[in-house]
Amino acid sequence: MQNLLDGKTLAVIGDPVAHSLSPLIQQAMLDELGWRCTYGRIHVPGGTVAAWLPGAAASGLAGFNATMPHKTDLVPLMDTLSEDARLYRSVNTVVIRDGAFHGFNTDGEGFLRSLLDEGITPEGRRAAVFGAGGAARSVVLKLARTGAEHVTVCCRTPEKAAALTENAPDISVTDMAPDTLAQVLRSADLFINCTPLGMEGVNADFADFSFLDALPKTAPVCDVIYRPLCTALLHEAARRGHLAVNGLGMLIHQAILALEHFSGEPLDAAAMKSAILKKLLPALQSEVRPQH
Ligand code: NAP
Repeated sequence: MQNLLDGKTLAVIGDPVAHSLSPLIQQAMLDELGWRCTYGRIHVPGGTVAAWLPGAAASGLAGFNATMPHKTDLVPLMDTLSEDARLYRSVNTVVIRDGAFHGFNTDGEGFLRSLLDEGITPEGRRAAVFGAGGAARSVVLKLARTGAEHVTVCCRTPEKAAALTENAPDISVTDMAPDTLAQVLRSADLFINCTPLGMEGVNADFADFSFLDALPKTAPVCDVIYRPLCTALLHEAARRGHLAVNGLGMLIHQAILALEHFSGEPLDAAAMKSAILKKLLPALQSEVRPQH
């Protein structure tokens, strides 16, 4: 059956972009669907996305995903913005149609779907989130808008997170002092790490995991990191009896949602997830990295 994307190209832009798993993930779905569309990777230097954009439309690109450092720069350059992209002030998916740019952000919804896959619903939860960067913003705002009773953002520079609490009485911000964390985690029933601590290549991890002692055992512990698949945090959480959830589900679901935007068609998420995992797990487990 003819599809909007047949004969078209898609890409991920970033700086750097060689590490991006988007080409592998998106191509796995395109191949599974039998759509004649190729997905590439384009190095767009930081600070140059505004100059690159008009050429992208002229080159026949049907859309693109954006990774660091372009997600924020794209916001004012879009002809339309989805509600989530406007809320997060960040664009990770751009659909180019008739020369116009339509910006979306699928990170928050991708995170939500990864929770639902694990049987975790946000309604009525008291969530504690570590970090206040781009990933945290999408996670915190999605939780707050899908029924979480309260979300506490624990971060080392609380002033950076102040904007998250604007007109949102169900979101508060604290520092990361041990006493503060113990108090917050004692009354939490969901914990999410949105810092890069424990991520491969970052060379920094939590100094200790004693903050987990305060968290009720029934609280799931999530890490948005997927490299490695099991961070030291998740290892410690599982050892203490928590349900431990890595960032793979978020990565996969944000990609499925992006392809739905590119194609304008709803996709069978379970079939897409299984096609992606067949390609992605061997790549992550063998630590083979795509090259430029
Ligand atoms: P970001 O915008 O740079 O934000 C990082 C946050 O972590 C900031 O709040 C930063 O605090 C905090 N942080 C960094 N080092 C810290 C430390 N040593 N102690 C305490 N806080 C620290 O990064 P991001 O885009 O949000 O990404 C964060 C993580 O999420 C990365 O590992 C990324 O790979 C992952 N991610 C996963 C997905 C997925 O699909 N699974 C999607 C997006 C991101 P300061 O502001 O004080 O520096």
